[in-house]
Amino acid sequence: MATDCLFCKISQGEIPAEFLYEDERLVVFKDINPAAPVHLLLVPKMHIRSINDLEPDHASIISHLFMTAKDMAKQQGINESGYRLFFNVEKGGGQEIFHLHLHLIGGWEK
Ligand code: AMP
Repeated sequence: MATDCLFCKISQGEIPAEFLYEDERLVVFKDINPAAPVHLLLVPKMHIRSINDLEPDHASIISHLFMTAKDMAKQQGINESGYRLFFNVEKGGGQEIFHLHLHLIGGWEK
């Protein structure tokens, strides 16, 4: 865990948040400033700064993020209407929280 990392603190339960899903490797919660009717963040518990910092050992957590995103889209009822998945990478890519997270947005029309 990185000190002074908001998403480390949330994912480790040090800062309260309502998890829509949690397992031993990741948590899912609503974005505080949603960009769409459905806007979830999928956050690994392991501190990885950004996509730039991925190592071969991280392959399984990345695939787990995408498999969970697929399940969360279905749980939110937006799998058939469609949705977007994205990572912002570093400041120029719009990243504000330097702890890897996958955005899931959708729900414009169900
Ligand atoms: P990014 O710009 O890719 O780093 O995304 C960070 C996201 O985290 C933004 O969409 C913020 O609205 C969201 N965010 C920041 N603080 C919180 C928080 N305490 N709880 C939930 N979402 C947050």
